[in-house]
Amino acid sequence: MSRKRVYKEEFLDIGFTLLIDRGVEKPQCVGCGEVLSHESLKENKLERHLHGKHPTLAGKDRQYFKRKEEQLQRQKLDTPMNTGVYSVRQATTASYMVAKRITKSKQPHTSGEKLMKPAVLDVVCTIFGDDAVKNK
Ligand SMILES: [Zn+2]
Repeated sequence: MSRKRVYKEEFLDIGFTLLIDRGVEKPQCVGCGEVLSHESLKENKLERHLHGKHPTLAGKDRQYFKRKEEQLQRQKLDTPMNTGVYSVRQATTASYMVAKRITKSKQPHTSGEKLMKPAVLDVVCTIFGDDAVKNK
């Protein structure tokens, strides 16, 4: 009989942020990015991780962990390929778009910059989102 555990804001004081994995709340360490099980969403378990793996982080203030949490979330955004499943689908969509562009151009596949640049932008745009292209 496992009672449903809930994340508390105080957990950030001991270095843990909240991650939702398919609807299940899980604690994620902001020090190393490790995701613990839902059952570990308990103060003593989280403290054990903090003191066992990051003795130097124990005793840091909330501000410090807040900053680490932001870093961690930024990293996640910077590396969408690491998230697996959905990027495969997006890569398929992107390659389809490129193929369509090549067909439309009625040119050999080696037509270089004129064709490839917009094609690459399609890929980047599909996988990383429009924001990535805006910075070009
Ligand atoms: Zn850790």
